[in-house]
Amino acid sequence: LIKKAFPAVSYSENRHINVKGNKSPYDGDEVYWSKRNSKLYDGATSKCLKRQDHSCGHCGLKFMDDERVHLHHIDGEHSNWKPKNLMAVHHSCHQYIHMGKTGKV
Ligand SMILES: [Zn+2]
Ligand SMILES: [Zn+2]
Repeated sequence: LIKKAFPAVSYSENRHINVKGNKSPYDGDEVYWSKRNSKLYDGATSKCLKRQDHSCGHCGLKFMDDERVHLHHIDGEHSNWKPKNLMAVHHSCHQYIHMGKTGKV
């Protein structure tokens, strides 16, 4: 079931991680949500967004077109791509979530 969505997303995610290197103290699960790119992210991210009605899992505000979307792994396990473990949040909200956890990712 999940495998179907997994390859496309993990592929693009990995590319993001490679580009960003070790700079980010966060998950590295940042994707760029836009109508143009939505085809690239028709897996976990778009499912997450649909489930959350295109609003942020943290602050509840809607994502705008072209706004960066972070996928937060709720249990902190970055290999856990089960839909229930993923939450789409704003970049700033994601920072906030992790800052609230004593700086540890
Ligand atoms: Zn937010
Ligand atoms: Zn996170």
